[in-house]
Amino acid sequence: MRTYWVETYGCQMNLSDTELMEGVLASSGYVSVSSPDEADVILVNTCAIRENAERRVLGRVAELNRVKTSHPDTLIGVCGCMAQRLGSRLIQDAEYVDMVLGPDAYRSLPEIIEQASARDAGVVDVGFRPTENYEGLEVRRQSGVSAWIPVQRGCNYRCTFCIVPHTRGDEKNRGPDDVLAEVRDLVERGITEFTLLGQTVNSYRYDDWDFPRLLRAVAGIDGVRRVRFTSPHPNDLTERLADAMAEEEAVCPQIHLPVQSGSDRVLKRMVRRYTRAEYLDKVRMLRERIPDIAMTTDIIVGFPGEEDEDFEATLDLVRSVRYDDAFTFKYSPREGTPATRMKEEWFVPDAVAQERLERLIRLVREIAAERNMDEVGRTTEVLVEKRAKRGELLQARTETNKVALIPGPDDWIGRYMDVVLTGTTGATFTAFPIESRQERTSRVAGAP
Ligand code: SAM
Repeated sequence: MRTYWVETYGCQMNLSDTELMEGVLASSGYVSVSSPDEADVILVNTCAIRENAERRVLGRVAELNRVKTSHPDTLIGVCGCMAQRLGSRLIQDAEYVDMVLGPDAYRSLPEIIEQASARDAGVVDVGFRPTENYEGLEVRRQSGVSAWIPVQRGCNYRCTFCIVPHTRGDEKNRGPDDVLAEVRDLVERGITEFTLLGQTVNSYRYDDWDFPRLLRAVAGIDGVRRVRFTSPHPNDLTERLADAMAEEEAVCPQIHLPVQSGSDRVLKRMVRRYTRAEYLDKVRMLRERIPDIAMTTDIIVGFPGEEDEDFEATLDLVRSVRYDDAFTFKYSPREGTPATRMKEEWFVPDAVAQERLERLIRLVREIAAERNMDEVGRTTEVLVEKRAKRGELLQARTETNKVALIPGPDDWIGRYMDVVLTGTTGATFTAFPIESRQERTSRVAGAP
Protein backbone atom coordinates (compact mmCIF):
# COMPACT_ATOMS: atom_id res chain seq x y z
CA MET A 1 0.00 0.00 0.00
CA ARG A 2 1.44 3.39 -0.98
CA THR A 3 0.62 6.52 0.96
CA TYR A 4 0.42 10.25 0.23
CA TRP A 5 0.20 13.64 1.94
CA VAL A 6 -0.92 16.81 0.16
CA GLU A 7 -0.65 20.42 1.32
CA THR A 8 -2.53 23.17 -0.50
CA TYR A 9 -1.78 26.90 -0.73
CA GLY A 10 -3.57 29.64 -2.65
CA CYS A 11 -6.96 29.98 -4.28
CA GLN A 12 -10.10 27.87 -4.54
CA MET A 13 -8.90 26.51 -7.88
CA ASN A 14 -5.94 25.00 -6.04
CA LEU A 15 -8.22 23.48 -3.39
CA SER A 16 -10.23 21.98 -6.20
CA ASP A 17 -7.09 20.73 -7.99
CA THR A 18 -5.95 19.04 -4.80
CA GLU A 19 -9.25 17.14 -4.68
CA LEU A 20 -8.53 16.04 -8.21
CA MET A 21 -4.95 14.91 -7.45
CA GLU A 22 -6.21 13.01 -4.43
CA GLY A 23 -8.84 11.35 -6.61
CA VAL A 24 -6.23 10.32 -9.18
CA LEU A 25 -4.02 8.89 -6.43
CA ALA A 26 -6.88 7.13 -4.65
CA SER A 27 -8.01 5.47 -7.87
CA SER A 28 -4.46 4.12 -8.29
CA GLY A 29 -4.57 2.57 -4.83
CA TYR A 30 -2.83 5.27 -2.81
CA VAL A 31 -4.18 6.11 0.63
CA SER A 32 -3.87 9.41 2.47
CA VAL A 33 -2.08 9.61 5.80
CA SER A 34 -2.37 12.05 8.67
CA SER A 35 1.21 13.36 8.66
CA PRO A 36 3.94 13.91 6.04
CA ASP A 37 6.25 11.62 8.04
CA GLU A 38 4.12 8.60 7.12
CA ALA A 39 3.89 9.42 3.40
CA ASP A 40 5.61 7.76 0.45
CA VAL A 41 4.67 10.76 -1.67
CA ILE A 42 4.41 14.37 -0.44
CA LEU A 43 2.77 16.89 -2.75
CA VAL A 44 2.73 20.64 -2.18
CA ASN A 45 0.17 22.46 -4.30
CA THR A 46 1.49 26.00 -4.64
CA CYS A 47 0.48 29.55 -5.53
CA ALA A 48 2.56 32.05 -7.52
CA ILE A 49 0.36 35.11 -7.27
CA ARG A 50 2.67 37.07 -4.97
CA GLU A 51 6.33 36.73 -4.10
CA ASN A 52 5.61 36.41 -0.38
CA ALA A 53 3.30 33.47 -0.96
CA GLU A 54 6.02 31.78 -3.03
CA ARG A 55 8.73 32.39 -0.46
CA ARG A 56 6.62 30.92 2.34
CA VAL A 57 5.89 27.80 0.33
CA LEU A 58 9.54 27.31 -0.64
CA GLY A 59 10.40 27.46 3.05
CA ARG A 60 7.77 24.85 3.76
CA VAL A 61 9.07 22.54 1.02
CA ALA A 62 12.58 22.82 2.49
CA GLU A 63 11.14 21.92 5.89
CA LEU A 64 9.37 18.88 4.44
CA ASN A 65 12.75 17.66 3.20
CA ARG A 66 13.48 16.62 6.81
CA VAL A 67 11.12 13.66 6.21
CA LYS A 68 13.78 12.25 3.89
CA THR A 69 16.25 11.96 6.78
CA SER A 70 14.24 9.10 8.26
CA HIS A 71 12.50 8.02 4.99
CA PRO A 72 14.98 8.52 2.14
CA ASP A 73 12.60 6.97 -0.43
CA THR A 74 9.87 9.52 0.16
CA LEU A 75 9.22 11.58 -2.98
CA ILE A 76 8.53 15.30 -2.79
CA GLY A 77 6.47 16.90 -5.56
CA VAL A 78 5.79 20.58 -6.08
CA CYS A 79 2.59 21.21 -8.05
CA GLY A 80 0.44 24.15 -9.10
CA CYS A 81 1.30 27.65 -10.25
CA MET A 82 4.74 27.99 -8.68
CA ALA A 83 5.77 24.69 -10.25
CA GLN A 84 4.43 25.88 -13.57
CA ARG A 85 6.25 29.20 -13.24
CA LEU A 86 9.64 27.89 -12.14
CA GLY A 87 9.76 24.48 -13.85
CA SER A 88 13.19 22.88 -13.73
CA ARG A 89 14.63 25.93 -11.94
CA LEU A 90 12.91 24.59 -8.84
CA ILE A 91 14.91 21.38 -8.92
CA GLN A 92 18.14 23.24 -9.60
CA ASP A 93 17.59 25.35 -6.47
CA ALA A 94 16.15 22.59 -4.29
CA GLU A 95 17.67 19.28 -5.37
CA TYR A 96 15.51 17.35 -2.89
CA VAL A 97 12.43 18.08 -5.01
CA ASP A 98 11.67 14.96 -7.06
CA MET A 99 8.73 16.14 -9.16
CA VAL A 100 7.62 19.50 -10.55
CA LEU A 101 4.11 19.29 -11.99
CA GLY A 102 1.76 21.72 -13.66
CA PRO A 103 -2.02 21.12 -13.49
CA ASP A 104 -2.23 19.53 -16.94
CA ALA A 105 0.02 16.72 -15.66
CA TYR A 106 -2.22 15.67 -12.76
CA ARG A 107 -3.96 12.94 -14.76
CA SER A 108 -0.55 11.24 -15.15
CA LEU A 109 0.45 11.51 -11.48
CA PRO A 110 0.80 7.74 -10.86
CA GLU A 111 3.07 7.30 -13.91
CA ILE A 112 5.12 10.37 -12.99
CA ILE A 113 5.59 9.02 -9.46
CA GLU A 114 6.81 5.73 -10.96
CA GLN A 115 9.28 7.59 -13.18
CA ALA A 116 10.54 9.69 -10.28
CA SER A 117 11.10 6.67 -8.04
CA ALA A 118 12.96 4.84 -10.82
CA ARG A 119 15.57 7.50 -11.45
CA ASP A 120 17.89 9.87 -9.67
CA ALA A 121 17.08 13.04 -11.59
CA GLY A 122 13.81 14.81 -10.86
CA VAL A 123 10.83 14.72 -13.24
CA VAL A 124 9.52 18.02 -14.60
CA ASP A 125 6.16 18.10 -16.38
CA VAL A 126 4.86 21.63 -16.80
CA GLY A 127 3.73 21.62 -20.44
CA PHE A 128 0.30 22.91 -21.34
CA ARG A 129 -1.83 20.21 -22.96
CA PRO A 130 -4.47 21.99 -25.03
CA THR A 131 -6.56 18.80 -25.26
CA GLU A 132 -6.55 18.06 -21.50
CA ASN A 133 -10.16 18.62 -20.45
CA TYR A 134 -9.99 17.01 -16.98
CA GLU A 135 -12.93 14.81 -17.90
CA GLY A 136 -13.44 11.37 -16.43
CA LEU A 137 -11.16 11.88 -13.45
CA GLU A 138 -12.11 10.68 -9.99
CA VAL A 139 -12.31 13.56 -7.49
CA ARG A 140 -11.77 13.00 -3.76
CA ARG A 141 -13.88 15.69 -2.09
CA GLN A 142 -12.97 17.26 1.23
CA SER A 143 -16.52 18.18 2.13
CA GLY A 144 -19.69 16.10 2.05
CA VAL A 145 -21.72 19.29 2.15
CA SER A 146 -20.42 21.65 -0.56
CA ALA A 147 -18.49 21.13 -3.76
CA TRP A 148 -16.18 23.18 -5.98
CA ILE A 149 -16.95 22.67 -9.66
CA PRO A 150 -14.24 23.94 -12.02
CA VAL A 151 -15.97 25.05 -15.21
CA GLN A 152 -13.08 27.01 -16.69
CA ARG A 153 -9.30 26.87 -16.55
CA GLY A 154 -6.71 29.43 -17.62
CA CYS A 155 -7.36 33.06 -18.47
CA ASN A 156 -7.64 35.16 -21.64
CA TYR A 157 -7.35 38.49 -19.85
CA ARG A 158 -3.89 39.97 -19.70
CA CYS A 159 -3.95 42.16 -16.58
CA THR A 160 -0.45 43.61 -16.45
CA PHE A 161 0.17 42.57 -12.82
CA CYS A 162 -0.97 38.99 -13.13
CA ILE A 163 1.01 35.77 -13.45
CA VAL A 164 -2.06 33.57 -13.96
CA PRO A 165 -2.02 33.57 -17.80
CA HIS A 166 1.62 32.44 -17.60
CA THR A 167 0.98 29.68 -15.08
CA ARG A 168 -2.45 28.51 -16.16
CA GLY A 169 -2.39 29.22 -19.89
CA ASP A 170 -5.27 30.33 -22.09
CA GLU A 171 -8.91 30.01 -21.11
CA LYS A 172 -10.38 26.53 -21.58
CA ASN A 173 -14.02 25.93 -20.83
CA ARG A 174 -15.54 22.65 -19.82
CA GLY A 175 -18.50 21.18 -21.69
CA PRO A 176 -21.85 21.93 -20.01
CA ASP A 177 -22.96 18.28 -20.22
CA ASP A 178 -19.94 17.25 -18.19
CA VAL A 179 -20.52 20.03 -15.63
CA LEU A 180 -24.21 19.21 -15.22
CA ALA A 181 -23.55 15.46 -14.98
CA GLU A 182 -21.03 16.08 -12.19
CA VAL A 183 -23.49 18.25 -10.27
CA ARG A 184 -26.29 15.70 -10.63
CA ASP A 185 -24.01 12.94 -9.42
CA LEU A 186 -23.00 14.98 -6.38
CA VAL A 187 -26.62 15.81 -5.55
CA GLU A 188 -27.27 12.08 -5.44
CA ARG A 189 -24.44 11.79 -2.94
CA GLY A 190 -26.08 14.40 -0.69
CA ILE A 191 -24.22 17.57 -1.68
CA THR A 192 -26.49 20.61 -2.00
CA GLU A 193 -24.18 23.63 -2.29
CA PHE A 194 -22.03 24.26 -5.37
CA THR A 195 -19.43 26.87 -6.30
CA LEU A 196 -18.62 27.18 -9.99
CA LEU A 197 -14.95 28.04 -10.42
CA GLY A 198 -12.95 29.84 -13.08
CA GLN A 199 -10.33 32.60 -13.27
CA THR A 200 -12.89 34.85 -14.96
CA VAL A 201 -15.75 32.43 -14.56
CA ASN A 202 -18.42 34.58 -16.20
CA SER A 203 -16.51 34.78 -19.49
CA TYR A 204 -17.46 31.06 -19.83
CA ARG A 205 -18.47 30.06 -23.37
CA TYR A 206 -19.02 26.65 -24.87
CA ASP A 207 -20.82 26.31 -28.22
CA ASP A 208 -24.01 28.29 -27.68
CA TRP A 209 -23.72 28.20 -23.89
CA ASP A 210 -22.71 31.31 -21.98
CA PHE A 211 -22.28 31.67 -18.22
CA PRO A 212 -25.83 32.84 -17.36
CA ARG A 213 -27.22 29.79 -19.17
CA LEU A 214 -24.84 27.45 -17.32
CA LEU A 215 -25.67 29.08 -14.00
CA ARG A 216 -29.41 28.72 -14.58
CA ALA A 217 -28.99 25.10 -15.64
CA VAL A 218 -27.03 24.23 -12.49
CA ALA A 219 -29.47 26.15 -10.29
CA GLY A 220 -32.37 24.31 -11.92
CA ILE A 221 -31.14 20.81 -11.03
CA ASP A 222 -33.42 19.14 -8.50
CA GLY A 223 -31.73 19.02 -5.12
CA VAL A 224 -29.37 21.96 -5.74
CA ARG A 225 -30.08 24.37 -2.87
CA ARG A 226 -27.27 26.89 -3.24
CA VAL A 227 -25.08 27.96 -6.16
CA ARG A 228 -22.20 30.43 -6.02
CA PHE A 229 -19.47 31.29 -8.50
CA THR A 230 -16.01 32.82 -8.32
CA SER A 231 -14.34 34.95 -9.57
CA PRO A 232 -16.32 36.91 -12.12
CA HIS A 233 -14.62 39.66 -14.14
CA PRO A 234 -16.53 42.98 -14.07
CA ASN A 235 -16.33 43.21 -17.87
CA ASP A 236 -18.33 40.02 -18.34
CA LEU A 237 -20.97 40.94 -15.81
CA THR A 238 -23.96 41.37 -18.09
CA GLU A 239 -27.64 42.12 -17.48
CA ARG A 240 -28.31 38.52 -18.48
CA LEU A 241 -26.12 37.35 -15.60
CA ALA A 242 -27.66 39.79 -13.12
CA ASP A 243 -31.12 38.57 -14.21
CA ALA A 244 -30.10 34.94 -13.75
CA MET A 245 -28.79 35.72 -10.28
CA ALA A 246 -31.96 37.56 -9.33
CA GLU A 247 -34.40 35.04 -10.80
CA GLU A 248 -32.87 31.70 -9.87
CA GLU A 249 -33.80 30.95 -6.28
CA ALA A 250 -30.77 28.72 -5.72
CA VAL A 251 -28.24 31.37 -6.76
CA CYS A 252 -26.93 32.96 -3.58
CA PRO A 253 -27.24 36.75 -3.13
CA GLN A 254 -23.49 37.22 -3.05
CA ILE A 255 -20.72 38.18 -5.44
CA HIS A 256 -16.94 38.54 -5.30
CA LEU A 257 -16.23 41.22 -7.88
CA PRO A 258 -12.52 42.14 -8.03
CA VAL A 259 -12.08 45.88 -8.65
CA GLN A 260 -8.28 46.14 -8.09
CA SER A 261 -8.29 49.98 -7.98
CA GLY A 262 -10.68 52.90 -7.83
CA SER A 263 -8.56 55.08 -10.11
CA ASP A 264 -9.10 55.14 -13.86
CA ARG A 265 -5.45 55.87 -14.49
CA VAL A 266 -4.38 52.79 -12.53
CA LEU A 267 -7.11 50.60 -14.00
CA LYS A 268 -5.87 51.55 -17.45
CA ARG A 269 -2.27 50.63 -16.62
CA MET A 270 -3.50 47.36 -15.17
CA VAL A 271 -5.39 46.74 -18.44
CA ARG A 272 -8.51 45.84 -16.50
CA ARG A 273 -10.68 46.98 -19.44
CA TYR A 274 -13.28 48.88 -17.38
CA THR A 275 -13.44 52.30 -15.81
CA ARG A 276 -14.41 53.17 -12.27
CA ALA A 277 -17.78 54.49 -13.52
CA GLU A 278 -18.45 51.30 -15.47
CA TYR A 279 -17.62 49.18 -12.43
CA LEU A 280 -19.95 51.29 -10.26
CA ASP A 281 -22.69 50.92 -12.87
CA LYS A 282 -22.40 47.14 -12.57
CA VAL A 283 -22.61 47.39 -8.79
CA ARG A 284 -25.78 49.49 -9.17
CA MET A 285 -27.25 47.03 -11.68
CA LEU A 286 -26.73 44.17 -9.22
CA ARG A 287 -28.16 46.07 -6.26
CA GLU A 288 -31.23 47.13 -8.23
CA ARG A 289 -32.05 43.49 -8.93
CA ILE A 290 -30.76 41.94 -5.68
CA PRO A 291 -31.03 44.61 -2.96
CA ASP A 292 -29.51 42.47 -0.19
CA ILE A 293 -26.59 41.20 -2.25
CA ALA A 294 -23.32 40.85 -0.31
CA MET A 295 -20.30 42.13 -2.20
CA THR A 296 -16.63 41.41 -1.72
CA THR A 297 -13.65 42.39 -3.82
CA ASP A 298 -9.89 42.24 -4.42
CA ILE A 299 -7.80 45.42 -4.28
CA ILE A 300 -4.12 45.97 -5.08
CA VAL A 301 -2.31 48.99 -3.60
CA GLY A 302 1.04 50.37 -4.70
CA PHE A 303 0.68 49.40 -8.35
CA PRO A 304 3.36 51.21 -10.46
CA GLY A 305 2.36 54.83 -10.97
CA GLU A 306 -0.21 54.87 -8.13
CA GLU A 307 -0.12 58.37 -6.63
CA ASP A 308 -1.79 59.54 -3.42
CA GLU A 309 -4.80 60.78 -5.37
CA ASP A 310 -5.20 57.38 -7.08
CA PHE A 311 -5.14 55.69 -3.71
CA GLU A 312 -7.66 58.23 -2.36
CA ALA A 313 -9.90 57.30 -5.31
CA THR A 314 -9.69 53.66 -4.22
CA LEU A 315 -10.66 54.58 -0.64
CA ASP A 316 -13.51 56.63 -2.04
CA LEU A 317 -14.76 53.73 -4.14
CA VAL A 318 -14.63 51.42 -1.10
CA ARG A 319 -16.68 53.97 0.86
CA SER A 320 -19.22 54.23 -1.91
CA VAL A 321 -19.66 50.48 -2.58
CA ARG A 322 -19.46 49.55 1.11
CA TYR A 323 -18.12 46.04 0.56
CA ASP A 324 -18.92 43.24 2.97
CA ASP A 325 -15.23 42.36 2.84
CA ALA A 326 -12.17 42.73 0.65
CA PHE A 327 -8.92 40.89 0.02
CA THR A 328 -6.26 43.55 -0.02
CA PHE A 329 -2.79 43.14 -1.51
CA LYS A 330 0.39 45.13 -1.87
CA TYR A 331 1.51 44.99 -5.48
CA SER A 332 4.13 42.27 -5.95
CA PRO A 333 6.16 42.31 -9.20
CA ARG A 334 5.93 38.96 -10.98
CA GLU A 335 8.67 37.99 -13.37
CA GLY A 336 7.61 38.17 -17.01
CA THR A 337 4.46 40.25 -16.43
CA PRO A 338 4.14 43.59 -18.30
CA ALA A 339 3.94 45.70 -15.12
CA THR A 340 7.53 44.76 -14.24
CA ARG A 341 8.65 46.63 -17.36
CA MET A 342 6.95 49.90 -16.42
CA LYS A 343 9.04 53.04 -15.82
CA GLU A 344 11.33 52.65 -12.88
CA GLU A 345 10.25 55.95 -11.33
CA TRP A 346 6.67 54.67 -11.21
CA PHE A 347 7.51 51.96 -8.68
CA VAL A 348 5.99 52.81 -5.30
CA PRO A 349 8.35 52.61 -2.30
CA ASP A 350 7.46 49.74 0.00
CA ALA A 351 6.88 51.99 3.03
CA VAL A 352 4.31 54.02 1.05
CA ALA A 353 2.56 50.88 -0.22
CA GLN A 354 2.54 49.42 3.29
CA GLU A 355 0.97 52.55 4.75
CA ARG A 356 -1.70 52.56 2.03
CA LEU A 357 -2.40 48.89 2.64
CA GLU A 358 -2.87 49.49 6.36
CA ARG A 359 -5.21 52.45 5.77
CA LEU A 360 -7.22 50.40 3.30
CA ILE A 361 -7.49 47.42 5.64
CA ARG A 362 -8.72 49.69 8.45
CA LEU A 363 -11.42 51.14 6.20
CA VAL A 364 -12.51 47.74 4.85
CA ARG A 365 -12.77 46.31 8.37
CA GLU A 366 -14.67 49.31 9.68
CA ILE A 367 -17.28 49.08 6.91
CA ALA A 368 -17.52 45.27 7.14
CA ALA A 369 -18.08 45.51 10.91
CA GLU A 370 -20.79 48.17 10.43
CA ARG A 371 -22.57 46.07 7.83
CA ASN A 372 -22.37 42.98 10.00
CA MET A 373 -23.55 44.85 13.11
CA ASP A 374 -26.66 45.82 11.14
CA GLU A 375 -27.41 42.14 10.66
CA VAL A 376 -27.20 41.16 14.34
CA GLY A 377 -30.67 40.22 15.57
CA ARG A 378 -31.83 39.01 12.14
CA THR A 379 -32.99 35.50 11.37
CA THR A 380 -31.27 33.86 8.46
CA GLU A 381 -30.73 30.45 6.94
CA VAL A 382 -27.35 28.76 7.28
CA LEU A 383 -25.85 25.57 5.98
CA VAL A 384 -23.87 23.77 8.67
CA GLU A 385 -20.46 22.85 7.22
CA LYS A 386 -18.27 21.30 9.87
CA ARG A 387 -17.02 21.52 13.41
CA ALA A 388 -15.29 24.87 13.84
CA LYS A 389 -11.53 24.95 14.36
CA ARG A 390 -11.81 25.65 18.06
CA GLY A 391 -13.99 22.60 18.48
CA GLU A 392 -16.97 23.36 20.65
CA LEU A 393 -19.04 25.18 17.99
CA LEU A 394 -20.22 24.28 14.49
CA GLN A 395 -19.21 26.38 11.49
CA ALA A 396 -22.14 27.34 9.29
CA ARG A 397 -22.46 29.64 6.28
CA THR A 398 -25.15 32.16 5.41
CA GLU A 399 -26.50 32.57 1.89
CA THR A 400 -24.37 35.71 1.68
CA ASN A 401 -21.23 33.60 2.28
CA LYS A 402 -20.59 34.77 5.83
CA VAL A 403 -19.48 32.42 8.56
CA ALA A 404 -21.73 31.92 11.61
CA LEU A 405 -20.71 29.80 14.60
CA ILE A 406 -23.50 27.90 16.32
CA PRO A 407 -23.67 25.46 19.21
CA GLY A 408 -24.91 22.00 18.21
CA PRO A 409 -24.15 18.32 17.64
CA ASP A 410 -22.14 16.84 14.75
CA ASP A 411 -25.21 15.35 13.13
CA TRP A 412 -26.36 18.85 12.18
CA ILE A 413 -23.50 18.97 9.65
CA GLY A 414 -25.02 19.17 6.17
CA ARG A 415 -28.31 20.62 7.40
CA TYR A 416 -29.96 23.92 6.58
CA MET A 417 -31.14 25.69 9.68
CA ASP A 418 -32.75 28.99 10.56
CA VAL A 419 -30.63 30.85 13.07
CA VAL A 420 -30.71 34.19 14.83
CA LEU A 421 -27.49 36.12 14.45
CA THR A 422 -26.62 36.97 18.04
CA GLY A 423 -23.30 38.81 17.69
CA THR A 424 -20.39 39.60 15.43
CA THR A 425 -16.66 39.84 15.84
CA GLY A 426 -16.74 42.23 12.89
CA ALA A 427 -15.96 39.52 10.36
CA THR A 428 -17.91 36.46 11.53
CA PHE A 429 -21.11 35.90 13.48
CA THR A 430 -22.22 33.98 16.48
CA ALA A 431 -25.69 32.56 16.04
CA PHE A 432 -28.34 30.48 17.72
CA PRO A 433 -30.44 27.88 15.92
CA ILE A 434 -34.22 28.26 15.79
CA GLU A 435 -34.98 24.90 14.24
CA SER A 436 -33.54 22.54 11.71
CA ARG A 437 -35.07 22.78 8.23
CA GLN A 438 -34.81 19.02 7.74
CA GLU A 439 -36.67 18.38 10.98
CA ARG A 440 -39.37 20.75 9.91
CA THR A 441 -39.64 19.15 6.48
CA SER A 442 -39.85 15.66 7.88
CA ARG A 443 -42.50 16.71 10.40
CA VAL A 444 -44.56 18.22 7.62
CA ALA A 445 -43.98 15.20 5.40
CA GLY A 446 -45.02 12.86 8.19
CA ALA A 447 -48.08 14.90 9.17
CA PRO A 448 -51.51 13.36 8.54
N1 SAM B 1 -8.57 35.82 -12.02
C1 SAM B 1 -8.81 36.03 -10.65
C2 SAM B 1 -9.75 37.17 -10.46
O1 SAM B 1 -9.85 38.05 -11.32
O2 SAM B 1 -10.38 37.20 -9.39
C3 SAM B 1 -7.50 36.33 -9.99
C4 SAM B 1 -7.29 35.53 -8.84
S1 SAM B 1 -5.90 36.02 -7.97
C5 SAM B 1 -5.59 34.49 -7.25
C6 SAM B 1 -6.57 36.95 -6.67
C7 SAM B 1 -6.12 38.35 -6.54
O3 SAM B 1 -4.72 38.42 -6.31
C8 SAM B 1 -6.33 39.24 -7.74
O4 SAM B 1 -7.65 39.59 -7.94
C9 SAM B 1 -5.45 40.41 -7.36
O5 SAM B 1 -6.13 41.32 -6.53
C10 SAM B 1 -4.33 39.75 -6.57
N2 SAM B 1 -3.08 39.76 -7.34
C11 SAM B 1 -2.85 39.19 -8.53
N3 SAM B 1 -1.60 39.46 -8.95
C12 SAM B 1 -1.02 40.25 -8.00
C13 SAM B 1 0.26 40.87 -7.87
N4 SAM B 1 1.19 40.76 -8.80
N5 SAM B 1 0.50 41.59 -6.76
C14 SAM B 1 -0.45 41.73 -5.81
N6 SAM B 1 -1.67 41.16 -5.88
C15 SAM B 1 -1.96 40.43 -6.97
